[in-house]
Amino acid sequence: MTDLAAFRAEVRQFLADNLDEELARAGRRQTSVFSEPEHSMPWQAKLHARGWAAIDWPVEYGGPGWSAMQKYIFSAECARAGTPSLMPQGLKMVAPVLMHYGTQEQKDFFLPRILNGEHYWCQGFSEPGSGSDLASLKLRADRDGDHYVLNGSKIWTTHAHHANWMFALVRTSSEGKPQAGISFLLIDMATPGLKVDPIISLAGEHELNQVFFDNVRVPVANRLGEENDGWSVAKYLLTFERGGRYAPTLFAQLGKLREEADDDPVLQDRLRREAVTVEALEAIEMKSIGAKGAEAALYASVLKVQGTEAEQRIAVLACDIAGAEAWCVPDGQSNDRLATAVPRYLNGRAATIYAGSNEIQRDLIARVSLG
Ligand SMILES: Cc1cc2nc3c(=O)[nH]c(=O)nc-3n(C[C@H](O)[C@H](O)[C@H](O)COP(=O)(O)OP(=O)(O)OC[C@H]3O[C@@H](n4cnc5c(N)ncnc54)[C@H](O)[C@@H]3O)c2cc1C
Repeated sequence: MTDLAAFRAEVRQFLADNLDEELARAGRRQTSVFSEPEHSMPWQAKLHARGWAAIDWPVEYGGPGWSAMQKYIFSAECARAGTPSLMPQGLKMVAPVLMHYGTQEQKDFFLPRILNGEHYWCQGFSEPGSGSDLASLKLRADRDGDHYVLNGSKIWTTHAHHANWMFALVRTSSEGKPQAGISFLLIDMATPGLKVDPIISLAGEHELNQVFFDNVRVPVANRLGEENDGWSVAKYLLTFERGGRYAPTLFAQLGKLREEADDDPVLQDRLRREAVTVEALEAIEMKSIGAKGAEAALYASVLKVQGTEAEQRIAVLACDIAGAEAWCVPDGQSNDRLATAVPRYLNGRAATIYAGSNEIQRDLIARVSLG
């Protein structure tokens, strides 16, 4: 057996031993890009016990030290087995930024708590009126001694109602270009004056929130990076939010749909066409491994556009394969396929909007690659 085949066998064995029926069912029933914490956190704890919770982290912070190919195999096996997804805000978004910009104290305090699941993070970037045009954000952070005093609001904050920490962009100056007056803060959600209100989605689910700040005091020591340099920190973070591995999950979905589509030649043809696109996506993902700086940002945008649009087409296919039944009783079904097709389709509409809409990504791609 080659080393990689042995590695794959080891991952499969781990999944067979640890993905119990409750977690596997939660994975099969996951209709949004995010798992609920009641499933993602126990799964993270099992991975953490094995040293596999943060596969992209350097060994010195608790990563497993895998090669790019091992990480890919691990993702593919998790997708095939249908594990619940891990919350990316801590492990994949704020963690690499802490490693790059954080002080030693910040790294020592936050990184172990992200890894062991004690801290659950949410992302406070968007505001009412500041989404695509993020640099126009207004949430004020006025300096008062060794604290900032925050007033304003954040919106579309995924899982803010579960989170105990938020990373946020705030306005610390109104001088010069809007980008030049933004700072990046780490905010304890239990701070007095902070209030979380729910927003219910098209699919009838509570994932999103609006968060209000009324004289919320945040220690200056919780700033990541320099004052008024938060835009650079955010740009660094966004390459981690947008990049990723779409192909393993999409291949796993297509595999299941192929079994369900019977011998219908039209559906089988559509499935084959999608398989070709996902193969192309996988090739880009492979090429993107190890890219840095502007090239990494370009790959992240290309993968975001291609990955989310393939995801949406496959969600439509899943509905067509499930047929009329799925539209009549989308909830509480005993059959996973019927229970998830429509909610996944509805949730999936958001994929081309969040993490920077696909129109904005196309604009970025054009600017970088075509000048
Ligand atoms: C499910 C979901 C979860 C989210 N979670 C979070 C979160 O956890 N934290 C957070 O901070 N934010 C979150 N967001 C917010 C998300 O980042 C914004 O919705 C996104 O950036 C778009 O901003 P907007 O909604 O204000 O739309 P707008 O910026 O108002 O855009 C409206 C439309 O106009 C288009 N458009 C705008 N400007 C341009 C342009 N220059 N060229 C071409 N087209 C343009 C857009 O593509 C879009 O189609 C989430 C959003 C969704 C849907």
